[in-house]
Amino acid sequence: MTQSRRTKYSIFSLARNAFSHHENWQVVWRSPPPQKSYDVIVVGGGGHGLATAYYLAKEHGISNVAVLEKGWIGGGNTGRNTTIVRSNYLWDEAALLYEKSMQLWEGLSQDLNYNVMFSQRGVYNLGHSLQDMRDIARRVNANRLNGIDGELLSGTQVKERIPIINIACRYPVLGASFQARGGVARHDAVAWGFARAADARGVDIIQNCEVTGIRREGDKVTGVETERGFIAAPKIAVVTAGHSSVLAEMAGLRLPIESHPLQALVSEPLKPVLDTVVMSNAVHGYVSQSDKGELVIGSGIDSFTGYGQRGSFSIIEDNLAAIVELFPIFSRVRMLRQWGGIVDTCPDACPIVAKTSVRGLYFNCGWGTGGFKATPGSGWVFAHTVARDEPHALNAAFDIERFVSGALIDEHGAAGVAH
Ligand SMILES: Cc1cc2nc3c(=O)[nH]c(=O)nc-3n(C[C@H](O)[C@H](O)[C@H](O)COP(=O)(O)OP(=O)(O)OC[C@H]3O[C@@H](n4cnc5c(N)ncnc54)[C@H](O)[C@@H]3O)c2cc1C
Repeated sequence: MTQSRRTKYSIFSLARNAFSHHENWQVVWRSPPPQKSYDVIVVGGGGHGLATAYYLAKEHGISNVAVLEKGWIGGGNTGRNTTIVRSNYLWDEAALLYEKSMQLWEGLSQDLNYNVMFSQRGVYNLGHSLQDMRDIARRVNANRLNGIDGELLSGTQVKERIPIINIACRYPVLGASFQARGGVARHDAVAWGFARAADARGVDIIQNCEVTGIRREGDKVTGVETERGFIAAPKIAVVTAGHSSVLAEMAGLRLPIESHPLQALVSEPLKPVLDTVVMSNAVHGYVSQSDKGELVIGSGIDSFTGYGQRGSFSIIEDNLAAIVELFPIFSRVRMLRQWGGIVDTCPDACPIVAKTSVRGLYFNCGWGTGGFKATPGSGWVFAHTVARDEPHALNAAFDIERFVSGALIDEHGAAGVAH
């Protein structure tokens, strides 16, 4: 089905459907049974996998594609993250890749014909020591050299712009970097928007279809074993975030990935009180306010590895202590719910978007705690890599070989916290 055969969402389709009491809307995407074979199988129906399928069809004309998802689409980290979007990374390789993503975000709702609620409300990364401020100044300068917006602010300027912040806390806020084009987006809408647009171009989205094995013939892949039988494909693109090493093992590979729980929490809804995103590494916490009014709060990973989508209480305690220190006004706000996701962390806090030593097998993983912002850019470069069997210039540095050669791109210290 081509894009033109999907009803376009518009004021006119809204009005038309109002006449039939909104009972005749087309399904947002189909749920076809799996075919026996595809040109490309994408394993993992998170934002990155769905974006990969969309750009394979849109940019490379490859639409005989299946996205196989073990649960429901967006049920992994895509639907569990705190949705911070920014591109102010330190090193050229990372900054340019995230900036590509930022540019795609800026036109994404129109491109997908689906409102992903991208809100460029700005992101502050606070500095609490002279060394923090030196690092922040260096990063803002590096960003500007790459044409990425960034401002260096003093503590007083931060206080003027965010009146409810306490800059005279235990670790006083000396200043911040500010990226005005950064912000947040609606995570579910990102998954659903990519799914709808990919489906409209002929991609089969198959939920409740876990991949249990990767079949190889010598040095090349031939397809995947699934809960619903064998599906053949000459190309398999794996985008399974925290489960990437499990999938790699199925093909006899080892990845330098550790899987850690990362959690977040939201408060009861409040009237609008915070119109931006604030992140701090020194006290380790970040906060924004959702459109529903909830404070969306997060911090760092649990230091142990694991697959339990929970996270430990000590992190919540430290996280909330940090938030209350920065925003004493929130001290009596009640928390509504808490959850966790499993993030895939690489030793240099940068992703792997690359082909592997097995012909036809590609991995897109290692985005760790910060891959939501990369969703469109990641899908765009990965689709290029899979379609042409070679990386795009923007992801050439993010291969697996860097862990052998030592050409790492260390982004650990690049921003307030690693999201
Ligand atoms: C609490 C939390 C907060 C975060 N905050 C931010 C943030 O503010 N900003 C930011 O940029 N990033 C953030 N992140 C990171 C971000 O969520 C991820 O990097 C990003 O969403 C990864 O997307 P994905 O599509 O690769 O993974 P996922 O959405 O996890 O998709 C992978 C999919 O693969 C499926 N899968 C796994 N194994 C199989 C199998 N065998 N067969 C079939 N399917 C399989 C899973 O079910 C899952 O749906 C956060 C993460 C968490 C957990």
